[in-house]
Amino acid sequence: MASERKGAAKRPPAAVGDVYERLTIIEFLDRRQSRRGEWIPWVLVECSCEKRTRKEIRLSSLRSGNTRSCGCLASETTRARTTTHGDHKTRLYGVWASMKYRCKNTTHRHAHRYSLKGVTVCDEWQDFVTFRDWALASDYMDGKEIDRIDNNLGYSPDNCRWVTKLENLDNRAKYLPADLEEWLHDHARRTDSSPYEVIKEALEAYLGVSRTGT
Ligand SMILES: [Zn+2]
Repeated sequence: MASERKGAAKRPPAAVGDVYERLTIIEFLDRRQSRRGEWIPWVLVECSCEKRTRKEIRLSSLRSGNTRSCGCLASETTRARTTTHGDHKTRLYGVWASMKYRCKNTTHRHAHRYSLKGVTVCDEWQDFVTFRDWALASDYMDGKEIDRIDNNLGYSPDNCRWVTKLENLDNRAKYLPADLEEWLHDHARRTDSSPYEVIKEALEAYLGVSRTGT
């Protein structure tokens, strides 16, 4: 034990404000007795992560590098390692899951436009990672919705693109003349559709073609 003390004495003493990776010493606490009966120093530290977690730890575990964060470092490492798992919480995962659900479930309230119409998700997109890679390579961002270019065909890389979220279009519809806006929403309700799809279908009918990708 004496040699340990000598070794420790060579290092400058710890002080309030010292930073060890993400942890900063906020305060020195009373010594606490270890299981071996020694009275060892404890400190209050604050983590530099968003949560700014404060916790009480042994000064020795801070100085040895055993404890380097409030726990956030470890969970970040875990998350990075199991990317697919972390993806479950992303919006893109939700887009993928609901696309598959619409095409499979026959009691979905829009079933007549998807599963009952024979709209399917292509084989390669049964795999989320493949879908995600396509999405990220084709300008996906939060707030965009997946759109089939030709409504008679299913979900596949060559028939899909990302469009501005329905709500954005909905918001824009507020600047339409009142009677037109009313008609648009009425029609969407009657056809169990959305203002976006009404506009899209109306435009396609007007142009006489299904637009192709441009
Ligand atoms: Zn932290």
